[in-house]
Amino acid sequence: MFKKILIANRGEIACRVAQTARRLGVRTVAVYSEADAQAAHVGACDEAVPIGGHAAKDSYLQWQRILDAAKATGAQAVHPGYGFLSENEDFARACAAAGLVFIGPPPEAIAAMGSKAAAKALMAEAGVPLVPGYHGDNNDPQFLLGQAEAIGFPVLIKASAGGGGRGMRRVDRAEDFVAALVSCQREAAASFGNDHVLVERYVTRPRHIEIQVFADTQGQCVYLFERDCSVQRRHQKVLEEAPAPGLSAERRAEMGAAAVAAAQAVGYVGAGTVEFIAEERDDGDIRFYFMEMNTRLQVEHPVTEAITGLDLVEWQLRVAAGQPLPRRQDELRIHGHAIEARICAENPDAGFLPATGTLQVLRWPAHVAFQRGGDALTPAPVRVDAGVREGDAISPHYDSMVAKLIVWGEDRAQALARLDAALRDTRIVGLATNVAFLRRVVGSRAFATADLDTALIERERPALFGHAGLPLEVAAAGVVAHQLRHEQTLEGSDPWSRRDGWRLHGGARRRIDLALGGEHHGFTLARLHDGALRLSLGEQHWPLGWRALGEDRYEVLLAGQRHVLAVHAAGETLAVFGEHGSLELSEYDPIAHAADQAGGGGSLTAPMPGKVVALLVQAGATVTAGQPLAVMEAMKMEHTLHAPRDGVVGELLYAVGDQVSEGAALLTLAGE
Ligand code: ADP
Ligand code: ADP
Ligand code: MG
Repeated sequence: MFKKILIANRGEIACRVAQTARRLGVRTVAVYSEADAQAAHVGACDEAVPIGGHAAKDSYLQWQRILDAAKATGAQAVHPGYGFLSENEDFARACAAAGLVFIGPPPEAIAAMGSKAAAKALMAEAGVPLVPGYHGDNNDPQFLLGQAEAIGFPVLIKASAGGGGRGMRRVDRAEDFVAALVSCQREAAASFGNDHVLVERYVTRPRHIEIQVFADTQGQCVYLFERDCSVQRRHQKVLEEAPAPGLSAERRAEMGAAAVAAAQAVGYVGAGTVEFIAEERDDGDIRFYFMEMNTRLQVEHPVTEAITGLDLVEWQLRVAAGQPLPRRQDELRIHGHAIEARICAENPDAGFLPATGTLQVLRWPAHVAFQRGGDALTPAPVRVDAGVREGDAISPHYDSMVAKLIVWGEDRAQALARLDAALRDTRIVGLATNVAFLRRVVGSRAFATADLDTALIERERPALFGHAGLPLEVAAAGVVAHQLRHEQTLEGSDPWSRRDGWRLHGGARRRIDLALGGEHHGFTLARLHDGALRLSLGEQHWPLGWRALGEDRYEVLLAGQRHVLAVHAAGETLAVFGEHGSLELSEYDPIAHAADQAGGGGSLTAPMPGKVVALLVQAGATVTAGQPLAVMEAMKMEHTLHAPRDGVVGELLYAVGDQVSEGAALLTLAGE
């Protein structure tokens, strides 16, 4: 086994690899960018080396600096994690040239699977089933349109070099094909440096079922069963589970064999994932087609660890050190059911717009660290893989995933219940996250009954989006309870007996001015003659009772309804967590907002820091509210910005390729 390895990554995967290395007595070297000097992964490793600026291209993608750091610290091997350099054949070669072991497959295998089109040609030869489509070299628009017509609509245009759910366009009608092709090629050229695309049949109601494979240098190759990653948004995984509901043992064995054949066809070594798109037929049988192979460890590997009781990073290290696979195929078993939820800094109600900010409060449900696999099958009921700590910032330089919650149960129902409770007990304050959204997905009828396909989120849209989760007045009641309790402890007396603005009109009343998303809500709290409290907003009134339960927790009785709430104050923010969601409120200062209406309104502003990838209008164009005006890229996602209202475009203030900061005006919009 290695004595020391360098981890060429950051965030949760770097922390994850460090954890296994420590358990195996392997020393670890972290690398970090300027943005990450204080990051969790630096603390998780034994040594750390700075490798450059904030942007990935100035640090985590700078191989020479990474190789120099490995040499300088005496590391013997490099673990690439996922993203960054993990699927870069040139980096794998450079490691070998520098006398370092690349903990991953041979460069030739990465190259063979690097192009989705070329990989499909190889898989066809190996007898692996493919989605009907065209994956040749001819990318002439009219030719591809002809292919699309032959395949039959809907079709999917896919960037050959694509990844991370990007560079794909679904096309339903021939007349939309060429425009979609141009847009897909533009994204592919900008994001992957290669605009080659393939066209294939769009499988309707598809499931994403992938097989974890592992191969060693002695020619052994096994599969560690499947993961169902059908719950997606924008072709990116949101929830992943294992085993796949409804997959028969026969079909599992067939998919496993196809995945092993795919790996062997490219001389694979190490951990890899063969992704299939699966189609459920009317008779309930599942048909599957090869989609792509990811030549690395996958974000969702923990669910496989949970059901097999194995540590996949340990396997990676052993295989890279030349050891044989720890188990044979007939020694591998599925035990129980596991689900992973990806916790991302993003706003689901705003098209999953990534969010940045400081994690002012970060509280996880009760959990245990990843438990040793080996022979003891003791999966953790709740596991948290995080790369951040309370107080850390989520910056615009990296992707928006902040952590993963992984639950295990004897069966799917138990795993579901545990995930629901774990999401309920996850408290994040300071930036938008998808925690409440995930809980609604987990609680949806479709997910609960395992009615899975990649359109689940779209299908369940009314139940999943636009829900505050926690009614405003309930949150306000939590704020009131929190304030009254703090005043009591500060003053050591009943605030109602104080001689200040509390006493008015015989009873007592005070204003509770709260802001929610910039909007003002002026509540009033009154103590009636009989001593009872009453909360009001405009013409609405709610009798209110409260008591403190523990640190920051309250029982509130609002109009006869009982609520248990937790209130976290962080700076100006008061975050109230209830049973079915949370709200972040702040105290509203009417004076500070008096000037709000004056300026602004005459421009289209960047909702977050990022890069301008397309400007869809020219100066002088007349636009209508909702019309797409520009496309930005931020945190590995593209976002279309729409006209806030009707108007005429004045000046374009940035050009394609420019980096812009949050709130920057991209163009001016005149006349209403
Ligand atoms: P897939 O497995 O379908 O490729 P993933 O969600 O696993 O999709 O990953 C999407 C892309 O983003 C991959 O290229 C992955 O390597 C990268 N990625 C995802 N999460 C992280 C992360 N936390 N750190 C670094 N890279 C990441
Ligand atoms: P990436 O490299 O971005 O992960 P994939 O080829 O793995 O790209 O596809 C990502 C997702 O896109 C799949 O999980 C699936 O939801 C959807 N998808 C891919 N191919 C098809 C298809 N032919 N029909 C329908 N959906 C597809
Ligand atoms: Mg994929």
